[in-house]
Formats: sequence, structure tokens, C-alpha cells
Amino acid sequence: MSYQEALGRISDIQRQAAGPAATAQPAAAETPVAATSSGSTSFAAQLSSAQGATDGIPVAAYKSAQPVQNGKLVESLYAPREQAAKAIAARFGLHITSSYRSPAHNAEVGGVPNSLHTRGLAFDLVGSDSQMQKAKAWAESHKEMFQEVLVHDVGSGLHLHLGFRSS
Ligand SMILES: [Zn+2]
Repeated sequence: MSYQEALGRISDIQRQAAGPAATAQPAAAETPVAATSSGSTSFAAQLSSAQGATDGIPVAAYKSAQPVQNGKLVESLYAPREQAAKAIAARFGLHITSSYRSPAHNAEVGGVPNSLHTRGLAFDLVGSDSQMQKAKAWAESHKEMFQEVLVHDVGSGLHLHLGFRSS
């Protein structure tokens, strides 16, 4: 491509990275043209600009009734959220250490009474601090999906607790 085309493409990239306020480099600039500033872009913004809002995660998973109906776990309602939790775990290098708990099991492991785990809505994900924080930031940028997003140290140790919404 020509020098002018290259400059045009670079300023397009800069506008994408920095938002509408960014201005194009003057064509006469003699500075190296490859300089960009992706370091200032938030992690969530990088994810959504690079891969779309879903990041391979089925973000509509919360749009069904809560999985526990009349005290019984309904697999067809539970599976979409479990799938989303697994996709989040895979995406951020975490693994799931707790998911649905019967009320009796929940009491045994020291879960809060009425925990979203007993309603088939909550999943605990474990990994390195930084991976858990990245997953937490992603979840917080998808508030429509979750009613609880926290990294806390209860029961089996530090983990990311994700509690899905239900319709
Ligand atoms: Zn939990």
C-alpha cells in the first residue's frame, strides 16, 4: 500500500484503540508511525473490541427461570448457566470448584443459608489472583448476567463467586 494509505490505516487503528476523541497523526510527522497506546485501554474494552461482546461466552444464559423448581434441580434450566460458567472458566484459565449445592450440602460446606448455590444459580471459580480479577472485571462488565460477583475467601479458600440472574 502507499504511504498515504498506510497513514490512513494507522489513524483508523488509533481511533479504534483510543475512541472518538483521538486525532490522526499529521501526515508530515517524522516520528515512528508504529507507536500506539493500547496499554491505557481497559481490559474489558480490549475484550469487546477484539472479540465482540460475548467472548465465546453464552451471555444470554441467565434468561430463564431459576433452575431449582419445587426443591428439584431442573437440568434444562441449569445447563445453560453451567455452560456459561465453564466457558468463563476456560476463557480465564480458572476451574470450577463449586456449583449447585443441595441445601444440606450447602450447610455442610458453610454456605450462607439461601445461597444462590442452592438455587442452581451460583458457581465458584478458582485460579491465580490475576486471572480471577480479570474474570471478575469481565463479569462486572456484564451486569445483566449476574446478581452476585465477588472474590472472597470463605469455605474452601479464595475464589470468584458468580451468581447468575434468572428471569
Ligand atoms: Zn459461591
